[in-house]
Amino acid sequence: MLVVGAGPAGSVVAKTIAEAGFSVQIHEEHPVVGLPLACGEGMSLFMLNRFPWAPKEGYPLDIQYISFPGGYRTYSSIEAISVDRTVFDQSLCEMAQNEGAQLNINSSVKKLSKTREGIEATTNHGTTSAKVVIAADGPSSRMMRQMNLPPPEELVQGIEYRIRDLDVEGLQFYFDYTIAPHGYGWIFDKGEGIANVGICLQGAMNPRARLDQFMRVHNIKGEIEQVIAGIIPSSGPVKHCSTDHFMVVGDAGGFTNPMFFGGIGIAMLTGMIAGETAVEALEEDNYSADKLISYSQKVKELPIAAPNLIRAHNLFYHQCNNKDLANIGILTDNQDITHLSWEKKLIIFGRTLRRPRIWGGLSKISKIMEGFRLSRDWGF
Ligand SMILES: Cc1cc2nc3c(=O)[nH]c(=O)nc-3n(C[C@H](O)[C@H](O)[C@H](O)COP(=O)(O)OP(=O)(O)OC[C@H]3O[C@@H](n4cnc5c(N)ncnc54)[C@H](O)[C@@H]3O)c2cc1C
Repeated sequence: MLVVGAGPAGSVVAKTIAEAGFSVQIHEEHPVVGLPLACGEGMSLFMLNRFPWAPKEGYPLDIQYISFPGGYRTYSSIEAISVDRTVFDQSLCEMAQNEGAQLNINSSVKKLSKTREGIEATTNHGTTSAKVVIAADGPSSRMMRQMNLPPPEELVQGIEYRIRDLDVEGLQFYFDYTIAPHGYGWIFDKGEGIANVGICLQGAMNPRARLDQFMRVHNIKGEIEQVIAGIIPSSGPVKHCSTDHFMVVGDAGGFTNPMFFGGIGIAMLTGMIAGETAVEALEEDNYSADKLISYSQKVKELPIAAPNLIRAHNLFYHQCNNKDLANIGILTDNQDITHLSWEKKLIIFGRTLRRPRIWGGLSKISKIMEGFRLSRDWGF
């Protein structure tokens, strides 16, 4: 078995296969696992707790705000921590290696070719073959293109500053499409006066200028220690997650939360399911498309792939303007948008009755709120 990429998805695939006693190699193109960093480092504990063996060290993000234009502020109550992502990725990879997985650093997989027995992978060091290749190579997956499979359809750009000497608390999201079109801004407290402040957006020029604008508007000042940037798949899983001798996991397969775009926990989960499928395939010596499709079926049933959630993503990020965002803020102001009890829904209903101008957009807003509810625990 050959895994391309030593991010959370790849390490969990390799760990799962190795602990079942099978041989697995990880190829990672960078010299150090977990670097360069491209992450806000926020992590849902609901996701993390699915993996009892995973590292749980982090700074608690107990206070959580979601702000909308007009100063409306809803909140969320998702159990979350801010992790040290480099240490986190390295710990997962070490666990895979402790189970017997072989890590090849500085090893970039350039090409995949199908053979009669499986797949031949060409790296910068030569060729190697495997019965199954698992693509865990992140959001701009070259492996998907090598297999002639369509990569994730929609990507947002993310850019973030690591800031020192900043007095903020918890986790804060800011939706304002005049600053972050089709995206949002975030502040994640890391403790000791350090925070990650970033924005993600789509189709806009000069994301860094937008991030500077976000900082100015919210009067965020402090010493910028580091600039972090990357891309994130944003609109749900790819259509084809497997074929004969091949599966795709994590960002490479578009597996992120379509409302908040977080992907660490989902990468681990798809990695675990792909690893279990690979073990079954090895036990049965069957690597056909019909066998590996059981992986696709399982991951397509995950709540993050639910059609309601993808629809909410499309409505929220592509069919709303700032006025719609403000209306969502008006209706949900001071409520937990990710967890509306019947009592809270009645409050929202009362607010709706008093604002006939919102009635026309109500169906859209309620589908979006459902999206926030469904996406609640799946990471940001
Ligand atoms: C700015 C930003 C902020 C984010 N913030 C958060 C957050 O706060 N919380 C959250 O949950 N998610 C966040 N995400 C998303 C999260 O980082 C990803 O969802 C997660 O890293 C996906 O893990 P992965 O293992 O699928 O891919 P990756 O972590 O991208 O790992 C892919 C690995 O494959 C390697 N690789 C790529 N191509 C090859 C090749 N050809 N050969 C060998 N190796 C290769 C890469 O070097 C890399 O190590 C953020 C993303 C960005 C860009």
